[in-house]
Amino acid sequence: MPVLPALAVTALLLGAPAPAADPPADTVDQLIEQLRDDPILVQPSMGMGDSGIAHDALTSAAADLDLPAYVVLADVPDDLTGAEYPSEAAAALMRAALGDGLYHVEFRGEISYTQAWGDEDLADAGTAPVTYAMDRAESNAHGDYPRVSALFEAVLTLRWAEAPLDELPDDVVDEYAAQPWAFLPDSGYDRADATAGRWVALLATVFGVLVAGTIITLVVARAKPLGRGGVKRRRTAFAAVPDDIAARAQRRLDDARRRLAELPAAQVSGPFGEAAATAIEAGDRVLATGDPLDAVGAVVLAEIAGRELDRAGSPKRPPYHPCFVNPLHGEARDTVRLDGSSIDAPACRDCARSVGPMLAVRRRVRGPVPYADTSTVWARTGYGALVSDLAEQVLEDRSARR
Ligand SMILES: [Zn+2]
Repeated sequence: MPVLPALAVTALLLGAPAPAADPPADTVDQLIEQLRDDPILVQPSMGMGDSGIAHDALTSAAADLDLPAYVVLADVPDDLTGAEYPSEAAAALMRAALGDGLYHVEFRGEISYTQAWGDEDLADAGTAPVTYAMDRAESNAHGDYPRVSALFEAVLTLRWAEAPLDELPDDVVDEYAAQPWAFLPDSGYDRADATAGRWVALLATVFGVLVAGTIITLVVARAKPLGRGGVKRRRTAFAAVPDDIAARAQRRLDDARRRLAELPAAQVSGPFGEAAATAIEAGDRVLATGDPLDAVGAVVLAEIAGRELDRAGSPKRPPYHPCFVNPLHGEARDTVRLDGSSIDAPACRDCARSVGPMLAVRRRVRGPVPYADTSTVWARTGYGALVSDLAEQVLEDRSARR
């Protein structure tokens, strides 16, 4: 179609353009120029009915951060239309132009992207607490299929960055969840949209490596005229076992043990009570070995025990399966096709969007080894991501070793 008639049709459909306070940003460069004036950018299409309120909520959520925080909730800019991960590509370009900081970008209908540059602790922490808080808010909300808004996710991401290793406090999350902008309107259209988005995320991860390569090329090509070396920081390929893992496992196991002791006698001998007791026993056994991968297993077994105790009260809750990529990410709520695999592995929501670094153990000679490449019960079961009888398999494995 020739350009002129196309413009005429658009003008007919839209009517005369209304005078706007902010000029619309059609390109990443225009978004960047707006970010120079104000690091929080919310376009009306993403403002949940009032982009002014949305802007203020984000600005106050960012107030206590030590590093610059840039948030963009907007329509896909024209020059990124058709890109596989426009939010990630835009964040890389923005960082190249504006420098280090926390970037959270979500374009309408696309997957969000969060990255911290210039703060290693924040960059390595992972946004699992945000995912967990969103899941919790959705499961507590009214309606058949409540879905949190992009604004809600962005606000929580800013609050997460204050203490990235901690879970977000329930009262903080609940207060935001009570705001009128926290959830998408409950309509069939939105549900269809959200489901489609999940499928896109799932399919897109298959091509993740290819896309990452494209983004790096794009950033280098764009950064040169600016005279900066803004190459995207590569994510670490593996995630180490945290130093405090044994203490964490002990706490979780003790919690589960206490809850089991409080269970009515009839339920203790019921199927859920017995499953919880078996998981706690298996957890205690592996925690005693002092091996870091075993300690991770003890954390997972404590989660499994806790879930079985929940199920004693509400049997409809599903059994617990962790994220295959790294069980410490929490519960698998989605699936992801991993490179070189022909099956969809259960994965946390973050990994379903973009596969995170795999849990690895440091060996003296070989360096970091992904847990799935070890000859352990954890590799065979995916820490329980792939099986429903992790506790039994662990106990069997331990008695076979003696
Ligand atoms: Zn994960």
